[in-house]
Amino acid sequence: MTNFLVAANPRGGAGYRFQAASPTDVLAAAERLRAAQPDWAALRVDERLSALEAWCEALRATGPELVAALTEDTGRALLSQAELDGALGRIEHWRRQSPALLSQPSQGVSATAPSVRYEHRCDPLGLVAVISPWNFPLLLMLVDAVPALAAGCAVLAKPSEHTPRFVEPLMASVRSVPALEAVFQCLLGGPETGAAALDAADAVCFTGSVATGRKVGARAGERLIPAFLELGGKDPLIVLADADVAQAADITLRGSVIATGQACQSIERVYVHRSLYDAFVAKLTAAASAVTLNTERVDRGHLGPFIDPRQADLVEAQLEDALANGATLHCGGLVRRDGGAWCAPVVLTGVHHTMRLYREETFGPVLPVMPFANDGEAIDLANDSEFGLSAAVLGEQAHALSVAARLRAGAVSLNDAGLTSQVSDVEKDSYGVSGVGRSRMGPSGLLRFLRRQALLVQTVPAAPLDAFKEVERQPA
Ligand code: NAD
Repeated sequence: MTNFLVAANPRGGAGYRFQAASPTDVLAAAERLRAAQPDWAALRVDERLSALEAWCEALRATGPELVAALTEDTGRALLSQAELDGALGRIEHWRRQSPALLSQPSQGVSATAPSVRYEHRCDPLGLVAVISPWNFPLLLMLVDAVPALAAGCAVLAKPSEHTPRFVEPLMASVRSVPALEAVFQCLLGGPETGAAALDAADAVCFTGSVATGRKVGARAGERLIPAFLELGGKDPLIVLADADVAQAADITLRGSVIATGQACQSIERVYVHRSLYDAFVAKLTAAASAVTLNTERVDRGHLGPFIDPRQADLVEAQLEDALANGATLHCGGLVRRDGGAWCAPVVLTGVHHTMRLYREETFGPVLPVMPFANDGEAIDLANDSEFGLSAAVLGEQAHALSVAARLRAGAVSLNDAGLTSQVSDVEKDSYGVSGVGRSRMGPSGLLRFLRRQALLVQTVPAAPLDAFKEVERQPA
């Protein structure tokens, strides 16, 4: 069994030690949850939703502790509060949407066999493992756990070992709602605990890197259980010739650097029409140079530190590779202090697609900018990636729409960036290595946790075997 020590945040404070849940602990938890799940599924929808409402109240009450824990682990205050607000918003969203989604008319007459009437029964998948990353620890667990619970599943959650502090206050809130506690458990640990949770579950929701997603997908394939994989991105932003340059620079900066670029939908590649290129680079560099870091106090400045310091090493290696291969640095770079690492937004030009920062996810506030001559070239450049999570296009609306529709990206924000962080009711499916499985956004966010059982009723006398007996046909 592994012992984990998560470092104190870079400004000091105590470290956080925990023991990972062993495979035996995971099995015991899975057994308990699986035993309770049928009773939870048998409740009326409004009864399950009342439990979720009571939990919302408990979460609000424990809000300050949750936010303090998230702030300690992520090194950012405002976004930790936003994470809690976002999580409460998700619960409210599913409380409002679930009754209609779970009572959809599901009976009729078959078009291919008109004597057969059918009815659909929706059966929750059972025990769902939710394995989540460190960049938004609370939100990225609850984004899957809440609709799974609303659908009648039990949930065994395994959050990232790098951001464990929120689990204590979270589970205190869960314990205050006994009906929920019976079907929702969160276990701390690293890859071994995650793998055990996957092995114990009837379905898995995984949010994380492509490398781990491949392992989770392969194991789910071996076990033949449903897998919903939300993986990395390398999101492009295109500034068309008819965009407003000043606005475009502002949107690009925010879309790339917010949360220190540690968001899956961060802008990591920027393509600008040649006619705007010089003005755009000048404005972006000026705005990026004015961004402040919270090196002194967590409640000051625009950007927090890297949550996992190893991420700083990766960003540094990508920058070194770009500079060694001819890139020009306009501003920004790594700032290391007392064991913590920050990054002032980096603007680069003279870049090309063979550089590491185009081939790998960056997860940092790095903006490589490249000019293009026409829409076709912009589209080709944006699509030249194995990732396909989301994208952004800035320009006159009809023009931007025509370009957006040709991008290989699950969601495209027009005249803004990263709109998927605000819009949770619209379905989207990733392209390439950015994800597999039905959308976590929109109605399928809940419906994917239900197996549809077809009850098929024959309304005329059933065909006897003799109807299928070969008989010698007489020549006409
Ligand atoms: P990661 O893949 O290293 O880890 C994610 C989770 O998987 C952690 O809880 C980890 O303990 C667990 N894990 C590791 N190995 C495992 C295994 N073999 N079996 C089961 N579980 C295992 O990802 P990370 O570094 O924590 O998060 C960053 C990544 O998440 C980035 O690539 C980012 O793009 C991605 N992400 C995607 C989305 C999205 O919605 N598409 C959202 C946020 C983050």
